[in-house]
Amino acid sequence: MHGCFWHGHKDCKYYTVPKTNTEFWMAKVARNQERDQEVWRQLEAKGWSVIIVWECQLKKAIFEETIDRVAAEIVRNGENYRAVQEDRKKAREEYRRERMERKEREQSLLKEVKSL
Ligand SMILES: [Zn+2]
Repeated sequence: MHGCFWHGHKDCKYYTVPKTNTEFWMAKVARNQERDQEVWRQLEAKGWSVIIVWECQLKKAIFEETIDRVAAEIVRNGENYRAVQEDRKKAREEYRRERMERKEREQSLLKEVKSL
């Protein structure tokens, strides 16, 4: 949940740079945006999916639309998560099978060598 002013929502009517101390406010919002990016990167690196909801998207007129979008993103993220988990599971099984086959080949070679 991002406040439109504090997080600098681009092209949003709720993000207007104050006419006094303009540089201070612009620098402050820029720092917040950098922090947002950094937090977002860290969460994604840990496997989290980030859904950003802006303050203005919770206004009555578009609230339902926002909730639908967030719900759809959660469902999509869940599907992506399950697909990634499934791929990892298959990769683990493949690795295990290859390791087992290698072990069996080694043992059968060893048997052959011993029987010579
Ligand atoms: Zn906004």
